[in-house]
Amino acid sequence: MDNIEVKPKHEIEITKISTSKIHQVDFNNLPFGRTFSDHMFVADFKDGQWQNSRIIPFGELTMHPASNVLHYGQAIFEGMKAYKLHDGTPVIFRLDEHAKRFNESARRLCMAEVPESLFMDAIKAMIELDSNWIPTFEGSSLYIRPFMIGADGYLGVKPSETFTFIIFTCPVGPYYPKPVHLITAEKYVRAIEGGVGEAKAAGNYAASLLPMKLANERGYDQVMWMDAKEFKYIQEVGTMNLFFVIGDKVITPATDGAILKGITRKSFISILKDKNIEVEERKITIDEVIEAYKQGELKEIFGAGTAAVVSHVASLTHKDFKMTLPAIEDRKIGNMLKKEINDIRTGLVEDKFGWLYHL
Ligand SMILES: *Cc1c(COP(=O)(O)O)cnc(C)c1O
Repeated sequence: MDNIEVKPKHEIEITKISTSKIHQVDFNNLPFGRTFSDHMFVADFKDGQWQNSRIIPFGELTMHPASNVLHYGQAIFEGMKAYKLHDGTPVIFRLDEHAKRFNESARRLCMAEVPESLFMDAIKAMIELDSNWIPTFEGSSLYIRPFMIGADGYLGVKPSETFTFIIFTCPVGPYYPKPVHLITAEKYVRAIEGGVGEAKAAGNYAASLLPMKLANERGYDQVMWMDAKEFKYIQEVGTMNLFFVIGDKVITPATDGAILKGITRKSFISILKDKNIEVEERKITIDEVIEAYKQGELKEIFGAGTAAVVSHVASLTHKDFKMTLPAIEDRKIGNMLKKEINDIRTGLVEDKFGWLYHL
């Protein structure tokens, strides 16, 4: 295998920016998602195939005012991070999983799939070109945002026949999330079985804004989403999957068609199993959580996602009942998982699961 040169399958035309903007960037102050690297990748799906793959200077798009995405919301995205190992090699955490999930989202939204090889070659080419945009100080990374939109300029409600696939990247600083105060959803829902909750579809996030705003107004950081039929089973929090530590068991809601299949979630389950810590994927009700709290058995609740890795829950309120969780220093499982993932990502511990994609 060693002396076979693997050429990228996909021709990507590169137009470099004339003057890099990197010197204008304060790498010590990088609010999430506001700084963009020099280039972006764009490809068009037309006449049944992907074409015109190109990397161009980051900039505005032009589109038909009747584009499907602007009216009927054919839009999906992914989110992942590139880091540099101590020897300077850029790596991406579980790139193949992100490529697969992107296509699962595409299928649900009736959009063209992006061949995994194109998805990966495009990201590889982007990171190679803008590799000096990967921040190197601890906890920072280059956030990668691939997305796809329906591009047909036609007002009938039907699947678009043309699509635009775009990738841009943002350098992001270390993220130290404050423990969050949650309230269970009582009126609004994020997703229902049979809906689009499993897809990273743009519309899901638009629908979550009002309930989030109302929760903020009442002094809570985020909404804990409940099932749409009975408001009894716990789903997710904000844009993260949830884990509960009850006694010495770890429980995470089973993916049931309404829960986004987080890659961080999946990785946590693998790490827990590897360490012989009991982890259950099953339905969990708010009543079970309240009961455990009353028994003094509710040790931890945390959210899991690419951005924060682990986001500890400080308190959870259901109707008028507020549960305050133990001090963050005592959160054995959440803190262990956060450290473990970060150590794998930065190359501090061996990547025995093969999760790092070396560029
Ligand atoms: C992206 C996302 C997650 C977390 O997924 P990761 O792959 O771990 O980043 C969880 N819930 C929702 C709704 C999401 O959009």
